[in-house]
This record gives sequence, C-alpha cells and structure tokens, in this order.
Amino acid sequence: MENPVLTIVVPCYNEEEVLPETETRLSRVLNELVQDRLVSSASTILFVDDGSRDRTWALIEQFHISNPYVTGLKLAANAGHQNALLAGLMTAEAYSDCVISIDADLQDDTGVMREFVVRFREGYDVVYGVRKSRATDTWSKRATAQGFYKLMTKMGVNIRYNHADYRLLSKRALQSLEQFKEVNLFLRGIVPLIGFPSTEVYYDRLERFAGESKYPLKKMLAFALEGITSFSVKPIRFVTLTGFGFAVLSALAFIYALVGKFWGTTVSGWTSLILSIWFIGGVQLLALGLIGEYIGKIYKEVKRRPLYVIEKQMLTDVGKREYQQSAAEAAISIGGRYD
Ligand code: UDP
Ligand code: MG
Repeated sequence: MENPVLTIVVPCYNEEEVLPETETRLSRVLNELVQDRLVSSASTILFVDDGSRDRTWALIEQFHISNPYVTGLKLAANAGHQNALLAGLMTAEAYSDCVISIDADLQDDTGVMREFVVRFREGYDVVYGVRKSRATDTWSKRATAQGFYKLMTKMGVNIRYNHADYRLLSKRALQSLEQFKEVNLFLRGIVPLIGFPSTEVYYDRLERFAGESKYPLKKMLAFALEGITSFSVKPIRFVTLTGFGFAVLSALAFIYALVGKFWGTTVSGWTSLILSIWFIGGVQLLALGLIGEYIGKIYKEVKRRPLYVIEKQMLTDVGKREYQQSAAEAAISIGGRYD
C-alpha cells in the first residue's frame, strides 16, 4: 500500500505554556514516522485553536512558518473540547487516510503513535489509546473519572474504560462519524457505535507538561451529564418505574386503609384523604414518566442518527459513481456545520 497520509489533530485552548514543547515533540514523532516510511511525507499536524484568549494562535502561526508539518485551524469562539476536536477531524478527513487525535498537554504518550499507525496498516479502522494506570492524576481527578466510567456503563452507554480522546481513526471511520448529526456531541460514546474493526493500544498517562487543566470539577460534571443525557433515556425510565411503584403501593395502602376503617381505628375522613394522596401521586408520576417516554422517542428522532453504516459496497460502475457523488454532496452540506 501507498504510505498513508496521517494528520495529527490537536485541540488547544489557552495552551501557550505547553504548545512549543508539543510542537517539538509531535514534529519529532511525525518525522520519525515519515523517515521510516510508515506514513506519507504529506502528513501534517493540525492545531485547532478553540477560541483561546492567550497567544496560542500566534504561536501556531509562527510554527506554520518555520515548520512545514504544522497547519492550523482557528475557531471563532470557544466551542469546547469535543467540538474543536470534531472541527479538526472533519477538516482533516478530506485529505488524510488516517487521523490521530491527541490533547495539547502531552499527557498522552506520543511514543505509541507508531503503534497506532502500525495497527492501522494492519487493517484496523479505529485504534483506541487506553491508559494503563492513573497514578499521576490527582486523587480527586481519579475518583471523579472512575465514577464517571462506572456511571456511564450503568446508564447503558458503551464507552471504553480509561480511554480519553487519544485515538486513531481511518478515513472511512471519519466519514461515518460525519453521518452522526448530533448537536450534543460526545465523541467517546459515538466512536464505538460506528463499528469497523477496532483495537486498543496501552500506554502510561503522564502529568500535564505545563499549564493547568482546562477541565475543573464543574466542567467535568457538566461533561458527564452531557454524556449520559446524550446517550441514555434511563433517567426517564426511572421516573416511569417510580410512578408505577407508587401506583402499586397505593393499592396496598387502599387495603390497609379499608381494613383500618372497618376496624374503626381511624378518624373519619382520613381514609379517603390518604387514599387520594397515594393514588393521585402514583398516577401523576406514571403519567409524567409516560410523557417522558415519548419525549425520549422524539429526542432520539431529532438526533437523526444514521441507522446503519455501510462497510463494503458491490455496485455497478454507474452505481458507484452515483454513490460517490452523493457522498460528495453530503460532505458539502455537513461541512457547513461549523462554518
Ligand atoms: N480544550 C479545548 N477547549 C476547551 C477546553 C479544553 O480545546 O474548551 C483542549 C485543551 O487545550 C487540551 C484538551 O482539550 O488540549 C484537554 O483539556 P485538558 O488537558 O485541560 O483536560 P484534562 O486532561 O484535565 O481532562
Ligand atoms: Mg489533560
């Protein structure tokens, strides 16, 4: 096979402290890959400036002049990590055979990129970078992150344990990703849904090289909530079940209250009052839950996720042409999403 064109996508938000080192290290890794003929010499590093307020973009411009590997993308405003990453991925898709996404802070071991590429060349479309341990994370970060993975799994969201956004995606995986038109973007949950052959590469998570985490606890909680509510209708189902539970309980209370009445142990008026409270409470919750179920359905529809992803095609020449043309048109309309 021809040497594949690789693009390394790096979302950056106020990363002036770490960026020079990131540029040096990524260029070195990429250069080695090019020298060893694992990737094409047309491969690049794409820094996505996510509306930084510091000198991040100025630095990227400097690198671009002095380093032929460096390209850049600047977002008009801070769109958040996931959206910045997507902007980079969708841009790189047009001219890359594979893309590796990595954070700017050098917490993910750049040394395993070589293994990513080797796996890709073996035929894998998705290569997940998975952390071996979290020894370098602070106690609170480790606890919240682990709680997050557990909660997500309980809520029925399929995500890789200890995998952040350090991964390789092939061109066709990117093209499929493009079909997920959701506004509530949670890439870690979406990538496993794409399918295609995938594998994992393990590495040690390091400490942030410089600067501070852009994900304080508040943002992490928001991120977790976003992940759950973008992927699961379980919270709604919980309301329905509770309502059902209360309705059943009200039947028991009904018997209890009637027995009490005939035994004469209650004051008058209590029976009817208490029964109404239980029954109406149960019915209300049940009704709320039911409405929720329908909203859940609407919510799924509104997202307009693709129902399937085509892995191979066996078409006539005319069919192929049409297919390619429609793919090209789709790419144009989707391209406008972050313009
Ligand atoms: N980031 C971004 N936009 C944001 C916040 C963060 O592009 O609004 C980038 C940031 O520059 C870094 C990556 O996302 O490259 C991960 O952020 P960080 O390392 O602060 O998160 P943590 O590793 O602490 O979870
Ligand atoms: Mg980090």
